[in-house]
Amino acid sequence: MTTVINTLDRALRHPEKAHRPDNAIQRKPDWIRVKAPVSREYAATRDIVRAGKLHTVCEEAACPNIGECWSKRHATMMIMGGTCTRACAFCNVRTGLPDALDTDEPERVAATVKTLGLAHVVITSVDRDDLADGGAEHFARTINAVHQESPGTTVEVLTPDFLRKDGAIETVMAARPEVFNHNLETVPRLYLTIRPGARYYVSLRLLERAKELYPEGFTKSGLMVGLGETREEIMQVMDDLRAAKVDFLTIGQYLQPTRKHARLDRFWTPEEFAGLESIARAKGFLMVSASPLTRSSYHADSDFAEMKKNRAAQFG
Ligand code: SF4
Repeated sequence: MTTVINTLDRALRHPEKAHRPDNAIQRKPDWIRVKAPVSREYAATRDIVRAGKLHTVCEEAACPNIGECWSKRHATMMIMGGTCTRACAFCNVRTGLPDALDTDEPERVAATVKTLGLAHVVITSVDRDDLADGGAEHFARTINAVHQESPGTTVEVLTPDFLRKDGAIETVMAARPEVFNHNLETVPRLYLTIRPGARYYVSLRLLERAKELYPEGFTKSGLMVGLGETREEIMQVMDDLRAAKVDFLTIGQYLQPTRKHARLDRFWTPEEFAGLESIARAKGFLMVSASPLTRSSYHADSDFAEMKKNRAAQFG
């Protein structure tokens, strides 16, 4: 029965992956251990998010850090619905045709951020290729609503690539998010299989453009390792990101969500992550976070504070 339900759920969440060949899921190594989501604080965060009728990437992507993050009230809001128009091979978010935009959502996000009492919030979204502006205006309205409702709260947006959506990045940056984040996810050689709907140089240019439009803000990008990339390829991506003046790099381990997702090539060891972090710091990033469980929004608040300090030290 469980098998039937799992197969059905997978087919419903990822119809485009249902007929792909199975990739066996490898056992996690000892260094990937997560806290179970059982605390009272975790339940309180869940209740607040539910009351706001919001989606979170923490739940939709089945993030392994949810027990830890939600016990500190750090939920990452996912706006514009729970259904994505892309079908990336690594991602566990449901794919399909999304619903119409929920026009009250920006205010509900702002109210929820206030209730959670967040000093720094990360707001992401599904890809909305169906919308004329890719959802840029909705992002801007949400940033503005949070700034208005909680003037002391800093906003980090983690956006799609807005491929073929002229003017979208200008709209988002006009709302002055303190951090603009867009993940490259993987090395250019693997784009066709891992991010088939995206273009490496479009993503890179988006980050560069965000910095041009708001140089006082911070830009951030992330990579997953374990998909078959080499250390040399990662170092090249670091150079590309520095050339685009990106401030903050996150690197985490890819964990294969189901047998229908991209095959996990290997687990990188904690020592290898430490090595990548040293290289990235030497290349001049203001802030680097690299560990097996690093995700874009993991420790985003304390990392933002440290990044601001690092910039002040550099220019102060
Ligand atoms: S790492 Fe990010 S996505 Fe994962 S639980 Fe924490 S806040 Fe949510």
